[in-house]
Amino acid sequence: MKKVVKFGGSSLADADQFKKVGKIIRSDPSRVYVVPSAPGKRFDTDTKVTDMLLKAYEIAIHGGDLDKQLSAIKARYDEIIQGLGLGLSLDEDFATIKKMMLENPYKDYCASRGEFLNAKVMAAYLGYEFIDAYEIIFFNEEGALNTYKTNRVMRERLAQVPKAVIPGFYGQAKDGKVETFSRGGSDVTGSIVAANSQADVYENWTDVSGFLVADPRVVNNPVSIHTITYKELRELSYMGASVLHEDAIFPIRSAGIPINIKNTNHPDDEGTWIVESTARKSNYTITGVAGKKGFCAVLVQKAMMNSEIGFCRKVLQAFEENGISIEHMPSGIDTMTVVVHKDEFLDKEQQVISAIHRLAEPDVVEIESGLALIAVVGRGMKSAHGTAAKVFTALEKANINIRMIDQGSSELNIITAVDEKDFEKAIRNIYNTFIHPGTGPVD
Ligand code: ASP
Repeated sequence: MKKVVKFGGSSLADADQFKKVGKIIRSDPSRVYVVPSAPGKRFDTDTKVTDMLLKAYEIAIHGGDLDKQLSAIKARYDEIIQGLGLGLSLDEDFATIKKMMLENPYKDYCASRGEFLNAKVMAAYLGYEFIDAYEIIFFNEEGALNTYKTNRVMRERLAQVPKAVIPGFYGQAKDGKVETFSRGGSDVTGSIVAANSQADVYENWTDVSGFLVADPRVVNNPVSIHTITYKELRELSYMGASVLHEDAIFPIRSAGIPINIKNTNHPDDEGTWIVESTARKSNYTITGVAGKKGFCAVLVQKAMMNSEIGFCRKVLQAFEENGISIEHMPSGIDTMTVVVHKDEFLDKEQQVISAIHRLAEPDVVEIESGLALIAVVGRGMKSAHGTAAKVFTALEKANINIRMIDQGSSELNIITAVDEKDFEKAIRNIYNTFIHPGTGPVD
């Protein structure tokens, strides 16, 4: 058994958290590759080390007291090092970082140092080898992961090092500079390491016991998800459920390695399993419900549209010409609706409408705004009947008007659009219908 374990910033925010992590790793000899984030917040109003570094970068390019900022960052590490009783000194590393920030400051380098330093501390604490991600993760010219080179180099390296700490979040760009993933990207590093070490499990340790069926800011104390498939997770994360970086699924997906989301503060909780496929039924037909506000729908109507070849393409071309990405596209016999993000669309709405008229010659084009989308996601829907009826009944009973419905043929999700003002109430009622059936409508 071989496990890759990634620890998020809150799991490594101070020496006490480090001790919990050390205990977790030492309690299971199969936890051989460790991917740490930078130290996160110790309390609500605290600042993540990555944000402190980004501020240092701003100071480096615009002027200000760089020494003061770097000392504050160093103090975070020194506190951890002392709390763990380690004899490690980061003086030389900070001298190098300062020199770089003075001579050649650039954002990704600065942001990446949080993980670099934390991995050094972690390696010293565990007695594991430190492998710099710069040497084993590569990006191509477009800034995407160079999978071929990364896999080749990383596999070779890991084969020689049975236990190692590898900093998350960054790698090497095509031009030899340091390059980072987007924020939260240590999740992606962990996934790449898991794929390339042929791990049996990728454990992603954070400060919650896995995914919840609904957003706890909307639903009071939601139940957690035991098992979710990669596909379901994609749907829910797209709709705003965020525990894991969206791109973290791709590297391990093809290797079929399960991800186990675990809680550093409650290590005995089983957490959530993210798997390729499972025979395990979800406990409630639905796996999760999530949603987002801020959508507009462009309704295009034309008599006999269904028999006009190329009509949809022409409509879509109007969006493409204006660089607007499309989120959903439910269609009727003589209508099609294109759902877009309001933020992206507002500035260009008139250009898009005139382009639709020019290209597709429709009878009517109408815009509706203030829409929220809600996705009810669940692999169990395929084999259960009445799921859609339950969703719609929940909304009807709560007096919520459904503005649009879209169910993909995969039968993995049902998407409904409601007015933004009804968003939270809609989620709460859908949640209750499936998780606590029989409890009447709630506000
Ligand atoms: N430290 C980085 C961030 O705050 C990356 C990570 O934590 O995964 O986004």
